[in-house]
Amino acid sequence: MPRLYLSPPDLAGNELELLAEALASGWIAPLGPHVDAFEAEVGARVAMPYAVALSSGTAALHLALKVLDVGPGDEVWTATLTFAATANAVCYCGATPVFVDSERATWNLDPALLRDQLDAAAHAGKLPKAVIAVDLYGQCADLEPIAEACRRHGVVLIEDAAEALGATYRGRPAGSFGDLSILSFNGNKIITTSGGGMLLARVRAHAERARHLATQAREPAPHYEHREVGYNYRLSNMLAAIGRAQLRDLDRRVEKRRAIHDQYARALGDLPGWSFLTEAPHQRSTYWLTCATIDAAKARDTRDAIIRRLADRDIEARPVWKPMHLQPVFQHCRAIGGELASALFRDGICLPSGSQMTSADVERVVEAIRNGP
Ligand SMILES: *Cc1c(COP(=O)(O)O)cnc(C)c1O
Repeated sequence: MPRLYLSPPDLAGNELELLAEALASGWIAPLGPHVDAFEAEVGARVAMPYAVALSSGTAALHLALKVLDVGPGDEVWTATLTFAATANAVCYCGATPVFVDSERATWNLDPALLRDQLDAAAHAGKLPKAVIAVDLYGQCADLEPIAEACRRHGVVLIEDAAEALGATYRGRPAGSFGDLSILSFNGNKIITTSGGGMLLARVRAHAERARHLATQAREPAPHYEHREVGYNYRLSNMLAAIGRAQLRDLDRRVEKRRAIHDQYARALGDLPGWSFLTEAPHQRSTYWLTCATIDAAKARDTRDAIIRRLADRDIEARPVWKPMHLQPVFQHCRAIGGELASALFRDGICLPSGSQMTSADVERVVEAIRNGP
């Protein structure tokens, strides 16, 4: 039986057609008509007026912080439960990440904790330069109170929607809540360009500045003129063509991942100690990954025993993200709480959720979980 991966790339079927068109036109790289169209289509989908296609989601995070002039001496607060890219980008700018605990409903940044701590920081005159809210596993953070807490203190909000393209919160698309937002088209995300990302902006000047920095900060001149340090972060026309083909298939993928989650939850929901991450009020999750926690005191098998058993049967499952405040590289950074994120890391499991999975594939995972050795 073929190996089941957590979230492998899924071909939509029309990639070759758009790629062939890109090749035939002679526009391979660097930019070109597919890049412009991909930016317009993603911007429209996410309801953000400006979009800049980039080489990765990490590059998009880096530039989001750069256009806000985040630098040494600045703090940027973000969720401790996230992928390292979120925190790494803060460090690229020489700024200091501060890690905030999760809330139970979405596993994302705790809005009440954020509000209280921002209030306290304002009182002490030590507000962060920006907050990065992360939308994990296909579901938005509770973005309304998060945005309100930021607005109250004039702190800029960046939304890391790398894992949530296609989700909505209060009917609005993931990626439309930040002053700046980012998406990823890495191979494991819901749509992929093999590698790529996008910066979304509400203000034209932010997008223009990001575009400038992403193209080596080249000044408009016949010769090569540079007034500041730039980056080589743009997406190629070829990869944008793949992205356009993938984007047309997004709705089907969301439905598919939701159905996979439903099948798991129906088949495993009665297992003692198991609790699935489900939609909180006002959320529509893509269920990019189906996740659950396994309470070791109640469950027959521990989380790690289940991951090992699945591995023996050629099925990839993983613990949820290891929180940043527990990572050796960020040990010196301040954490605001972190107990819940630590418990989610201890008990949480991510199950194979790729949009090409059949219901028989899901059943294979279910069988392996239910029927011990
Ligand atoms: C994947 C991911 C990123 C980084 O995206 P890349 O395109 O891989 O650089 C950032 N944040 C989160 C939460 C992610 O899951």
